[in-house]
Amino acid sequence: MKDPERRLAEAIDFALLNGLLKYTPQGRLAHAPFALTPSPQPARAMARLEALTVPFNALAWRVAGDVPFLRAALEPAARHDTFLRNLLSLTGTADRDQPLRLLVTRNDYLMQIGDTPADDVPRQVELNTISAAYAGLAGRVHALHAHLLAGQPEAARLLPNDPLVGIVEAVSQAHGRYGQPGAVCLMVIQPEERNIFDQRLFEFALLRRGIATRRLSLPQLAGEGALREGHLVVRGEVAALTYFRAGYGPEDYATPDALRARALIEASSTIAVPDVATQLAGAKKVQQLLTDPATLARFCPPEQGKAMAAVFVGQYEPQASLTLGSRKLPAWEAACAEPVRYVLKPQREGGGNNLYDQAMAEALRGMSAEQRDAYILMERIVSRPHDALTVVEGVPRGGPHVSEIGRFGVLLAEGRRELLNRDVGYLVRTKAESSLESGVSAGFGHLDSLLAVDTSS
Ligand code: ADP
Ligand code: MG
Repeated sequence: MKDPERRLAEAIDFALLNGLLKYTPQGRLAHAPFALTPSPQPARAMARLEALTVPFNALAWRVAGDVPFLRAALEPAARHDTFLRNLLSLTGTADRDQPLRLLVTRNDYLMQIGDTPADDVPRQVELNTISAAYAGLAGRVHALHAHLLAGQPEAARLLPNDPLVGIVEAVSQAHGRYGQPGAVCLMVIQPEERNIFDQRLFEFALLRRGIATRRLSLPQLAGEGALREGHLVVRGEVAALTYFRAGYGPEDYATPDALRARALIEASSTIAVPDVATQLAGAKKVQQLLTDPATLARFCPPEQGKAMAAVFVGQYEPQASLTLGSRKLPAWEAACAEPVRYVLKPQREGGGNNLYDQAMAEALRGMSAEQRDAYILMERIVSRPHDALTVVEGVPRGGPHVSEIGRFGVLLAEGRRELLNRDVGYLVRTKAESSLESGVSAGFGHLDSLLAVDTSS
């Protein structure tokens, strides 16, 4: 056994040598936040989550194909939300010529605490259909843990992980089907991206498959992109794919030209990952509606529906009526009465937008009925903590932590035919038990891997 200090120094050196990197807000190069030892999780539950990727992918794809459903679902929320209204206005308008659809998804889960560890069960937090990040760095932190465990008995229980491989394979297949060998992949980025290494890993892996990537922001694309015979052409090159690592929040549409660029992508034959409909299929409101069994049944076979519904927690329209014991009351009032049991979510992605506890109750009380329509209420998932040591910019910190587990998936379809649908690996973000959010870039989450444990006995 190495002493802890040497072990920490070795881990940091490994991280730096192997691309587990970030830029600090000051622009300094540093290792990305990581957990020193992998997160212990029940083997059977982890296998179950892996198996759920395929049905959830198919679900998102089918929902994306039903624009009238998306419109009906999101129009009430869009009345109070310019960003959502703008996106909705782009659905179903373009009459474009592209039967290929590629989804790169990440389904996030927390383990809900039971009476004993054997009773802990996985519950879905959300399905991401746009900018599902950290596939590259997840592989890097797995390599770190594999290195640190080498020669120890636990090594055999570290669950293999390199999601980027499967994502790049799917992108490459989509590119092949587009049928223009010299065409590029356009990556839509935010100008001041700090999580650039995760993106570079994608870009460089794609280049090894013979596909070049061009990085542009939406405003840049508005200036430099054009439609030529249906193709999206940027600086003289056809973009076979347009892969979004931006475009999921209002900040990315601060100027009208950004929305014009999005419309240009939608109108062209580029394979948008995602197109607007697929992005909206991942909206919180849509996920809330899908917790209704009859709605879910419209989009999937019964067996798959049952398996997916088993990981849902309750999600409600704030105005909907809820039965609490013998009382019937609006969900939002129930949430105000017991704030710790709920999370209030707006139609936003990217972390930092949810409301909890007293802030949630105050916000709900201050809203009109119509304003509440822009949100969903979700039952709060509480996880069993485990002791972990996390490392941020060289500084270790111990204590109780909980892990959020994401499963990456890819789905490639042509028209109504699925060509490829598979799970490609995982992301673990481990956060201090007291932290509400788990964003890695936001400074809460630490990249981690899975150590399978047997809780059956
Ligand atoms: P975003 O799209 O902004 O990432 P999420 O739904 O993933 O929104 O929520 C952000 C974070 O908040 C999650 O990563 C998770 O840590 C926490 N969270 C979200 N929903 C719940 C919930 N129902 N129970 C407990 N924590 C939650
Ligand atoms: Mg999320």
